[in-house]
Amino acid sequence: MDYKDLANLIFPDVKEISYYEEKYPERNLPEGAIVTRFAPSPTGFVHIGGLYQALVARTVAQKTGGVFFLRVEDTDQKREVENGVTGIVNSLKDFDMAPDEGMISDTEEIGNYGPFKQSLRKEIYQAYAKYMIEQGKAYPCFCTPEDGEEIRQKQESAKIRPGYYGVWAKCRNLTVEEMVEKIQNGENYIIRFKSPGREDRKIKHKDVIKGNVDFPENDLDIVIIKADGLPTYHFAHAVDDHLMRTTHVIRSDEWLSSVPLHLQLFHELGFKAPKYAHISPIMKNDNGGKRKLSKRKDPEAAVEYYKQEGVPSDAVKEYLLNIANSTFENWRRANPDAKMEEFDFQLNKMSVSGALFDMVKLLDIGKTVISKMTAEAVYEESLEWAKEFDTELAEMLVDKEYALKVFGIERGNKKPRKDIAKWSDVKENIEYMYDDKFYGKAQEYPYQVISDKEDLEKIFKLYIEKYYDENDDKQTWFDKIKALAVEMGYAGEVKEFKANPGMYKAHVGDVSTAIRVGLTSRTNTPDMYEIMQVLGKDRIVERLEKAIG
Ligand code: GLU
Repeated sequence: MDYKDLANLIFPDVKEISYYEEKYPERNLPEGAIVTRFAPSPTGFVHIGGLYQALVARTVAQKTGGVFFLRVEDTDQKREVENGVTGIVNSLKDFDMAPDEGMISDTEEIGNYGPFKQSLRKEIYQAYAKYMIEQGKAYPCFCTPEDGEEIRQKQESAKIRPGYYGVWAKCRNLTVEEMVEKIQNGENYIIRFKSPGREDRKIKHKDVIKGNVDFPENDLDIVIIKADGLPTYHFAHAVDDHLMRTTHVIRSDEWLSSVPLHLQLFHELGFKAPKYAHISPIMKNDNGGKRKLSKRKDPEAAVEYYKQEGVPSDAVKEYLLNIANSTFENWRRANPDAKMEEFDFQLNKMSVSGALFDMVKLLDIGKTVISKMTAEAVYEESLEWAKEFDTELAEMLVDKEYALKVFGIERGNKKPRKDIAKWSDVKENIEYMYDDKFYGKAQEYPYQVISDKEDLEKIFKLYIEKYYDENDDKQTWFDKIKALAVEMGYAGEVKEFKANPGMYKAHVGDVSTAIRVGLTSRTNTPDMYEIMQVLGKDRIVERLEKAIG
């Protein structure tokens, strides 16, 4: 009896690994091309940190002419939810980040290196596990959960490192005959890796992001195939990233401490190890301290949140690039109109510690992104959002021609309006341009310096009767507001007013504020001339008449 017999007894029907090695050859890609992946569990939920990893992975793959694929890690079937893959696929699509290969729905995939869902790769893992057993590098372990608990307790009371290793790894020293006998007696077992490592030796590792790190070698005989026949994360990682010809494993830094084990697995399997890039988590300020953005506590941890709020996906991506490479911000300042894909992203310039999440900054980027869109694009995107999340807004937008005029205010010029950060801002932002909304709300007019009813009445009347002409160009329009101010005894220039404050009750700016408030019931709006162009004469007259009750 030898290892080969043992391996045949455990996995009688699996293929030789040479079959898979041929089936998934080295990829034919240009020198330096990065093949990488996003490998979530199918919980349906995408954390902003996951999107961040995926964006980084996809960016470097694209930049180098490589491949970005989506692999679904569903070997922990407890964590699985129905349609969980579709949720992930849709989130990536929402951000225009569909993978080059891999899963594209719960059941479909593209590319030649699949299956990309781990539960469909059972016999592949078993083929490699069999190979390991043949080599004497893996073995069946018959310890029961109770045995495991007993070991743990003994280690704890002796205050020594927990785990299945060295003298504690009872089954590693069984003879092949003993193992075969137990199996033939119907005893349950799992498959463990026989670690060649020693805890008192160090390994050096150079992480693409974290730089040089030292670790003790792994000496744990970790489980590679569980009782349900599926692999553990560690084993699946080695087999999959080898066969999918991953060049760079880009993942969360919670896995950094597993690197010694992973390098050992690659080595014992006879695989070339990939490069590793461990990304720090996105942090949040909390009561003076810092903590990871949490799925439970922070709504903004879920990418779905941005969709619901209508934050443009480009703004989220651009913000994430911002925290990924600190040079992005300067680049953006120097290249305000460039596509973010043109930024020369560097994996090795990512920060070693976790970036602080800053919603204000994200929304600020949202404002800039939206300010650069055409009125047509703003219309289409806000309508699409409204159809799903705000039917009242969707109804307001039915008249497309009018909506385009409203969105066209202060847009397409050198300094476009920057007052919309997300689509959920739109309704509040444009409401006053819609008569039924404008009059429908109990009107409060926040008049400022000029607030006396009689003064206001005089200003509005005189303006409509004598000064307002819808055919005026902007300069004439403004000159007329000046003339109106002067006729009413206010200063026609702010300078003048400041020089002789005692002489005037108010100045031209106050007159124009009064008109603005009368027309919109707001003190702050985009360009009033443009607003008036959109409202048109009849509505202006009506509004100013109603504004004084
Ligand atoms: N399924 C693992 C996770 O979600 C993947 C880690 C990796 O990218 O290798 O953490």
